[in-house]
Amino acid sequence: MSILQHKAPVCGVEIEADQAAGVSEYRGKKVYFCSLACKEKFDRAPEQFSKDLEG
Ligand SMILES: [Zn+2]
Repeated sequence: MSILQHKAPVCGVEIEADQAAGVSEYRGKKVYFCSLACKEKFDRAPEQFSKDLEG
């Protein structure tokens, strides 16, 4: 099995779950962030980034 990579919605980088600086939940899905600054941006306006989570 390969390591799951998640796309961080704010800056678009691929990160591994265990390397994420922060995690939020949006519509029942976990969203991983490369930094707390990105997490704060997302938490303030998740719908602004949600289109990046669909694909
Ligand atoms: Zn980021």
